[in-house]
Amino acid sequence: DDMPEKLQAAIRDVPDFPQPGILFKDITPILADPELLQASISEISATLPHQNIDKVVGIDARGFIFAPTIALQKGAGFVPVRKKGKLPWKTKSQSYSLEYGENVIEIHEDAVQPGDKVMLVDDLLATGGTAGAAVKLLKALGADVVCVSFLIELSALNGRDAIECDNIHSILQYS
Ligand code: IMP
Repeated sequence: DDMPEKLQAAIRDVPDFPQPGILFKDITPILADPELLQASISEISATLPHQNIDKVVGIDARGFIFAPTIALQKGAGFVPVRKKGKLPWKTKSQSYSLEYGENVIEIHEDAVQPGDKVMLVDDLLATGGTAGAAVKLLKALGADVVCVSFLIELSALNGRDAIECDNIHSILQYS
């Protein structure tokens, strides 16, 4: 299967975005190619084979590109975790630290039910702050987080250590 190599070759490295010193992994060339778009979704979906789940949760904003299609493939619903202030109804919030300062993400209180089996999806795992906070929110609502999956993992940052789940996957790893 040479698909991971094809996906890797399509990712565009953008230096100094959004800040000086950051090498940003730009996935838009993958999204623009129908074969690669299909493959990226299939590969992420396949990290949780043969298991019935209730919800696929996507993280604002690039998790939203993948999670709804994976949800449809699995016969599950889609749930957004969003940046603070974007969700209209009653929310539960979780903060997490950045290199400088703090971020807050939110989920609707009724987005998952106690005991729901959920898969969490995002495009990229860096420090794990974002996904770690999303898992905390899901667990606080009583969900069973069965799998956390990413297209890209920046392995050197050890983001997995920040995520309270023992079933974490990524399709492409960069050290
Ligand atoms: P973390 O919280 O440090 O793991 O950062 C992950 C979050 O930041 C994800 O929601 C990503 O979409 C975003 N992110 C961080 N670095 C990049 C990048 O190089 N490319 C695309 N997204 C990134």
